[in-house]
Amino acid sequence: MGVAERMKQKTTLSFEVFPPKTEAGMEKLRGVLEELYRWRPDWISCTYGAGGTDKGYNLELCRAMAGSGRTTPVSHYTCIHHTRQDARRDIDGYLELGVRDFLALRGDFLPGETATGGDFDHATGLIAFLRETYGDRIGIACSGVPEGHILSPDWKQDVAVLKRKQDLGADFIITQLTFDMEQFKRWLDAIRSAGIHLPVAVGVMPVLDRDKCIRHCVSMNGSAIPRPLARHISKYYNDPEGFLEHGKDYTVEQMREYISLGVNDLHIYALNRSDAVSDILLRSGLFGRPD
Ligand code: FAD
Repeated sequence: MGVAERMKQKTTLSFEVFPPKTEAGMEKLRGVLEELYRWRPDWISCTYGAGGTDKGYNLELCRAMAGSGRTTPVSHYTCIHHTRQDARRDIDGYLELGVRDFLALRGDFLPGETATGGDFDHATGLIAFLRETYGDRIGIACSGVPEGHILSPDWKQDVAVLKRKQDLGADFIITQLTFDMEQFKRWLDAIRSAGIHLPVAVGVMPVLDRDKCIRHCVSMNGSAIPRPLARHISKYYNDPEGFLEHGKDYTVEQMREYISLGVNDLHIYALNRSDAVSDILLRSGLFGRPD
């Protein structure tokens, strides 16, 4: 059964990890993965060139996850500098490793560039190509942006884009981080009203560090810092330990609210930190105890 089908049957747990740049980093990440597996994640996604970097150890990481037999790897794949030929070569390579699920994205532009520099300008083109080329041999996830993409005039335009992604063959949605729960509810209602029935994996960014938290919101995404988060930031502005400690509870509350809204998967941006993630999951009590 594919990832999307499993998400329709019960609320699943998944993580996002990012590939390290060195063999030493990769070794460390193997330990992190072992810890994350203990939570029986239904799938783990691995980023690809996020922030305009190179893909680093993406393949090695996907290979390790596929070989573990303990989760389903989902590789991100982007339009950046990719021709159709590149996409076919790369996806064939993943299939040989046993990776058959992909998050098809436009991708972050490389520094100094303002276009993808490949055959696809938007994720829609990549999704259409992948579905036409591979049929149901692969699973395809797409991004959903509850607050609207930074280039979009408003978030409602992206609801129409999301409908197009569904029509082109995407299987499920992974959302961009948001802390604005009111906007998330508006968006969820809007996509369902627009006939978008795909399962939603909601991206959960743990609140662990003051500067990173602020940067995650405003540096690339234009995400709002709602009042409860602003108060958390102010209250623990000069107290990193308090910020971390109470930030975990903040994240647990957000996860509980998402569950109450009926999302299909909690997708935790694990930031390659199994310690904090495990603590959050333990406190939440939502997914039992680790193996
Ligand atoms: P798109 O869906 O292509 O949308 C981008 C803009 O184009 C929007 O304004 C949209 O309205 C518009 N648009 C879309 N389709 C059309 C169309 N057919 N015609 C006209 N306009 C259109 N980046 C990485 O580089 N690597 C990663 O690993 C990575 N992981 C991510 C994981 C998640 C869960 C998310 C949400 C984002 C991730 N990103 C990653 C960032 C992402 O690449 C950027 O947010 C990027 O700017 C947009 O990607 P997208 O697929 O949402 O773009």
